[in-house]
Amino acid sequence: MTLEREIIETKMEDQIKKLAQDNYGKTVEDLTDKELYYILLQLTKALMGATEPISGDKKVYYISAEFLIGKLLSNNLINLGIYDKVEKILKDHGKELSVIEEAEPEPSLGNGGLGRLAACFLDSIATLGLPGDGIGLNYHFGLFKQEFKNRKQTAQKNDWIEKQSWLTKTDVSFEVPFGDLTVKSRLYDIDVVGYKNGVNKLRLFDVETVDESIVKKGIDFDKEDIAKNLTLFLYPDDSDEAGNLLRIYQQYFMVSNGAQLILKELKDNKVDLRRMNEHAVIQINDTHPTMVIPELIRILVEDKAFTMDEAIDVVSKTCAYTNHTILAEALEKWPLEYLEKVVPQLIPYIKELDKRVAKKYKDPKVQIIDKDDRVHMAHIDIHYGFSVNGVAAIHTEILKDTELHHFYEIYPEKFNNKTNGITFRRWLLSCNRPLAGLITDAIGDGFKKDAKELEKLLAKENDPVFLNKLEAIKKQKKEELAAYIKENEGVSLNTDSIFDIQIKRLHEYKRQQMNALYIIHKYLEIKGGKKPSTPLTFIFGAKAAPAYVIAQDIIHLILCLQEIINNDADVNQYMKLVMVENYNVSYAERLIPACDVSEQISLASKEASGTGNMKFMLNGAVTLGTSDGANVEIHELVGDDNIYIFGEKSEQVIKHYDKADYVSKKYYDNDPMVKEAVDFIISDEVMAVGDKENLERLYKELLNKDWFMTLLDFRDYVVTKDHMFEDYLDREKWKKMMLVNIAKAGFFSSDRTIEDYNRDIWHLK
Ligand SMILES: *Cc1c(COP(=O)(O)O)cnc(C)c1O
Repeated sequence: MTLEREIIETKMEDQIKKLAQDNYGKTVEDLTDKELYYILLQLTKALMGATEPISGDKKVYYISAEFLIGKLLSNNLINLGIYDKVEKILKDHGKELSVIEEAEPEPSLGNGGLGRLAACFLDSIATLGLPGDGIGLNYHFGLFKQEFKNRKQTAQKNDWIEKQSWLTKTDVSFEVPFGDLTVKSRLYDIDVVGYKNGVNKLRLFDVETVDESIVKKGIDFDKEDIAKNLTLFLYPDDSDEAGNLLRIYQQYFMVSNGAQLILKELKDNKVDLRRMNEHAVIQINDTHPTMVIPELIRILVEDKAFTMDEAIDVVSKTCAYTNHTILAEALEKWPLEYLEKVVPQLIPYIKELDKRVAKKYKDPKVQIIDKDDRVHMAHIDIHYGFSVNGVAAIHTEILKDTELHHFYEIYPEKFNNKTNGITFRRWLLSCNRPLAGLITDAIGDGFKKDAKELEKLLAKENDPVFLNKLEAIKKQKKEELAAYIKENEGVSLNTDSIFDIQIKRLHEYKRQQMNALYIIHKYLEIKGGKKPSTPLTFIFGAKAAPAYVIAQDIIHLILCLQEIINNDADVNQYMKLVMVENYNVSYAERLIPACDVSEQISLASKEASGTGNMKFMLNGAVTLGTSDGANVEIHELVGDDNIYIFGEKSEQVIKHYDKADYVSKKYYDNDPMVKEAVDFIISDEVMAVGDKENLERLYKELLNKDWFMTLLDFRDYVVTKDHMFEDYLDREKWKKMMLVNIAKAGFFSSDRTIEDYNRDIWHLK
């Protein structure tokens, strides 16, 4: 501990009192929650500023369009090792830390799993004491805020940056040239403190001319005014050309700044750029930052007197790529014409990279620029990076066998798997303090640094006292969640019911629609006189991309069902449904500890990994899932008896796509249960509360297309889910399942994932 930090820490209480006086002329007791939050923010920032920066001979730069970091106060206090101390001080002044934390706005810098992964990784990199910074953009309104109106999603700007925030303005600024204008950037840093370790940084670039006032209604703004709009939103609507161009402007802005920052740091450290791969490694998170490769090559050639061969060689040894999806529509392919417009200076380099590939390999599937003049960003990463990794075992196998098979044949040595993970600081220690306490009492606190130690819990498998405490904590968390949902959504829940939760971005491949069909099926059963064995609560949380029409329709259906079910006196004592508004990290931290059944029901082969599944498991929920993504590894770890797996396997699904032989209508025609549930979407009852256009479109989609094969797995899903709900009544069995899931979750610590990245790819220290 540095001396400064020791001084700040030992005088914590005096400091809080003094800041209360100096800033607000009040005693601590009289502060509002927001004022006290600002004081804690200021002190925590000072403490992190006084913590040893992590340094070393080689550093990783994790470059990503998203960092879904969540609120930071609680996590930073935990990682600094002073949460309990601060909690105690506040208590002495009549204040609850858990209440004060609510005053913090959640940063809106990410979208879903990919961005949350980046945030977990920064936490683990610092916790392991490895030198590593995140590089991204400082979006002012980030991902939209979701509001429901007339049972439909609306999108509002998410105005998260306050005058006092975790951002620290630096004096670093670069010029970023585009085809038609040059902008000046400004770097803001957020400190990332490791758990009882030093500090790295999240480096977020902004543009000096950004203008929040150009956003008028909802999230509408002038997409062409680049100097003013560049860092307003994450993933601006790309359903038109202007939106696509804006995304390219953003991506180049991110990588140009990133490249300039990295080269500046190497220069400051007097590194010979010809050996830059010995001192820097750039992890490219999905394809959004791909242009960092041609950009670095361009700078080395144009400003540093490298030959093209030398530049390509050293950059290729510095960059590594993580693939996050096999969904073809999600793999970015920019029209060359768009790139020519936005970043003409990169075009000769992209063409040179393409020419070299074309000379060596004739297979059209591995070219960078295809016959329609579209630039395949992932292909740049694979040819000109030294590592390509998938994010779960099955995902990496699918990449090697099918999606990227032609590349695997050329570069087998580049391909490797890094199964995703989550930081246990946030997803256990912070979000579920009673559970963390119970575990600590049982096995000590070694698991906080070495997650594998959770396996020691298996010794408690036949300990009724321990198991009952586990059950009591789940109940407590359900009560806390129910109170919050009552307050925020206006829906009251029965905390003696099963809490069945599906929270994730809304996408057809994740199949929220299949869950909705199950709920319809149950509703109709209850109406028909068949009561469920235990009362049921179904909870959803999901944002849908504003331009994704069918996803909006699915949200609409769920909100209509919520209206019907919760207001039906025959049914609402047995089942309730709630879709929470604006699902985000903070909501996840409340939902996950309260969950009994974790819904992970994507079409096999489509979910690269999932990380929600890991958070739930760690908090004692049991998975209901397909053999997809990391569910497969969860299954292997907990065994058949502690998970509910259903549905077609990925090999079969891939065959269906190859042969194009899946016809959803057949399932509808041949299975009355399927027909009944699907027909209900356009029944009078639903039409009475819903919008005909949305409901009919969804109905037709399921019947005539159903690209993600909902109806294929529906029957097996119903059977397995019913069976699972029956098992819930066997409390002894269920409590053991909870325990085994927690005990086996250690593998999914992002500390393990980062150790794997470091051992196989980064080679830091
Ligand atoms: C973990 C997390 C996700 C990812 O969830 P998946 O179920 O893996 O898709 C998305 N959003 C938030 C807010 C999360 O915390």
